[in-house]
Amino acid sequence: MKPTEIMNEIVVLSGKGGTGKTSIAASLAVLAGNSAVIADCDVGAANIHLLLKPDFGKTFEFYSGELASIHQELCTVCGKCAEVCRFKAISFIDDHYLISDLDCEGCGYCERVCPTHAIAMYERKSGHVYISKTKVGSTMVHARLDISAENSGKLVAAVKNEAKSIAIKEDKQFIIVDGSPGIGCPVVSSLSGANYVILVTEPTLSGLHDLKRVHAVISRFRIQSGCIINKFDLNLEKTVEIKHFLEELQIHHLADISYDIAFTQAMTEGKTIVETSSPLKQLIEEVWYNVKEQIIIKK
Ligand code: SF4
Ligand code: SF4
Repeated sequence: MKPTEIMNEIVVLSGKGGTGKTSIAASLAVLAGNSAVIADCDVGAANIHLLLKPDFGKTFEFYSGELASIHQELCTVCGKCAEVCRFKAISFIDDHYLISDLDCEGCGYCERVCPTHAIAMYERKSGHVYISKTKVGSTMVHARLDISAENSGKLVAAVKNEAKSIAIKEDKQFIIVDGSPGIGCPVVSSLSGANYVILVTEPTLSGLHDLKRVHAVISRFRIQSGCIINKFDLNLEKTVEIKHFLEELQIHHLADISYDIAFTQAMTEGKTIVETSSPLKQLIEEVWYNVKEQIIIKK
């Protein structure tokens, strides 16, 4: 059997931040050990590195979109570029026309109207991608967007593609993806090629609302999914409501995790819950076992 035929991609998502998504993803990464490549696709607020302690072994720059720049020696200071820039990115300062990197949207209009061809378009550096070894010996691909950089969907795709090619090359059985919160472009990018999605929610009005929204996105991709209700005991009424929703949509109910201070304590010590003696450790181990079984049965 070829390696690509046995690789499984598991994405951990939550409709909103603060549900414990990253802690769960990191716990699964620890349980999977060297059988998985980890992809941190929460590029806007990357923090799984705090738990998996990657070594930032290799890095490369990520480029996305374009940026205009003026060659001052060719500029005749006619001002045509500033007139057409509807993003107000070109200013006249000290007898020169200058382009602000922060405001330029890379539309290229100024380049087209410049009579002396003084304007050139360049690829815009948007961030860095890192390839690291985690504390459990697995390879992790992670990234950081530059301040004010956009296109995080493309950066997520770059992280995923890198993780996938490493997993194929190193013949790994799993890719575990810590997805972005929300339902935007980065979430859609993190779903491509996924075999299973673990949804992490909490029993609040917004938790259920966001769970419904993110499930609506993943159902378009026809990906199998399961749900963990974190801190279920903080609102039993809402937990029952969430369970009804899971039943109705035939989403596998993976676990109810009770509120436990050990979860937060472990995080402040830079550990996952499965590295502690908390009773929740066994629960997460069961989740990992169940998810693996479901993927295998489906295949
Ligand atoms: S259009 Fe070209 S020549 Fe005119 S001000 Fe802009 S860069 Fe200079
Ligand atoms: S590329 Fe577009 S946004 Fe950037 S400076 Fe030129 S006209 Fe303005």
